[in-house]
Amino acid sequence: MGGKLFFADADSNYSDAAFVIFGAPFDGTSSFRKGSRQAPDAIRETSYTFETYNFNFDIDLSVIPIHDMGDVDIKENDTVEQALTAVEKTVTTILEDNKIPIMLGGEHSLTLPCVRASKEKFDDLGVVVLDAHFDLRDKYKGEVNSHACVSRHIIEDVTDRYVSIGIRSGTKDEYSLAKSQDITYYPSDMVVEKGIAHILSELNSKLDTRHLYLSLDMDAIDPAYAPALGTPEPFGLTDRHVLSLIHELAPRSIGFDLVEIAPQFDSGNTALLGAKFIREFIASAWASRQ
Ligand code: MN
Ligand code: MN
Repeated sequence: MGGKLFFADADSNYSDAAFVIFGAPFDGTSSFRKGSRQAPDAIRETSYTFETYNFNFDIDLSVIPIHDMGDVDIKENDTVEQALTAVEKTVTTILEDNKIPIMLGGEHSLTLPCVRASKEKFDDLGVVVLDAHFDLRDKYKGEVNSHACVSRHIIEDVTDRYVSIGIRSGTKDEYSLAKSQDITYYPSDMVVEKGIAHILSELNSKLDTRHLYLSLDMDAIDPAYAPALGTPEPFGLTDRHVLSLIHELAPRSIGFDLVEIAPQFDSGNTALLGAKFIREFIASAWASRQ
């Protein structure tokens, strides 16, 4: 583990922590715009912008036991397999120690080892992915472990207790596969038309399970709110849609990741939003335990 910069208020030691943040600076398969390997530190830096007090939950983050273990040991030229292995080891350890892992990606391919490790511990695991893209390809540019394939691997290799929210981009084959395999997804248009409360009630009946893994591919959000992305896609969710989902799902979530921010493509607002989401996730999850 390296890295000197830590997430704001993550000043607990590891053994006392309920939440363990780690960075996974890897963007080796990113296809359109690379840069998400710089996101963990960009998110950490901007996390100091906010007050420690969270009025939504009447909780001060400075009293919540949060630890930032730095970045997993991934080098710039590591293969995707090496990166996935490093992440899986880290998440397995954190879960074995009965803590909630929070990954600062990095690209979306890194979610697969998190979900795999989570399923090892929680057999009833459900997975919620927020994403503009289906990520249902079996292979992309010759790479099976591409960011564009992550949901396919989750469903086929880990669990079919899966839903995605915010979808508005895929190949014809991905749309056909989603239909033929009866994959549950809520397009961003549906979220806008029917509202978050409706989506949540559908989601809760579909994923009637105690343990969720929540993965936030930041491109689920409209590029107007989150422009610094690997693969931006217009007509997305708003920041408030995602905030509501995080508030509602955090209490059941045994792990969380935030991936695909490529911080050099804006003046800091996407990393800022990401840091805020992490703080809201922690506040909501902690409040539900008190
Ligand atoms: Mn994705
Ligand atoms: Mn995406």
